Amino acid sequence: SSEKELRLAMLTAVAQTISRHAEELTQLDQAIGDGDHGINMKRGFDAVMADSAGLVEKPWPEFLKGVGMTLVMKVGGASGPLFGTLFMTLGKELPGNPCAGDVAGALEAAIQAVQARGKSEAGQKTMLDVLVPVAAQLRKDALALTDLVTVAAAAAEATGPMKAIRGRASFLGDRSIGHVDPGARSSALMVAAVVGAVK
Ligand code: ADP
Ligand code: MG
Ligand code: MG
Repeated sequence: SSEKELRLAMLTAVAQTISRHAEELTQLDQAIGDGDHGINMKRGFDAVMADSAGLVEKPWPEFLKGVGMTLVMKVGGASGPLFGTLFMTLGKELPGNPCAGDVAGALEAAIQAVQARGKSEAGQKTMLDVLVPVAAQLRKDALALTDLVTVAAAAAEATGPMKAIRGRASFLGDRSIGHVDPGARSSALMVAAVVGAVK
């Protein structure tokens, strides 16, 4: 079906962008973490792609839960359980036949779950600093896909001047200032890839 093709296109686009930017993500993590974010994310999405034929056969909720479970198992680190929770909750919240208008609410619930798991919130220089404005933009206009990519990219850049309050980068205190957060950057890359696959 075309829905199955859309799932495959989205998954492939996300895995490709993570793979292409793995080195960059790792460099960002070398500056304020332990230098494994690109490696972690690539390992996770390589595992998801190895399973892609089976995953895309499933309806949206089970597809997203499957992606999330693989990410939890394979990405590891702090980001694995958090991105895993994000995708699993999206799967739990979306109806079987989702439309564009369903996505904002599902993403808001998924962000709540990530925040609970990470004991974190926007403003602490993490992936949430991209996810929260992306959800707000979706809530404002679920069909303005170009704006969504712009919002996500700008939000990732805006983590540069922030001071890290959560995750390994927080160990650096003020020295975390001046570097873009790796998880924020990977989140923006994923948003751009998903939008590119939809358009
Ligand atoms: P680790 O820090 O264990 O090596 P990664 O390098 O894969 O894990 O991921 C680091 C990213 O995870 C950070 O850049 C940040 O965006 C995100 N992160 C870490 N801790 C939290 C948290 N408590 N809440 C939200 N995001 C977090
Ligand atoms: Mg790391
Ligand atoms: Mg690590």
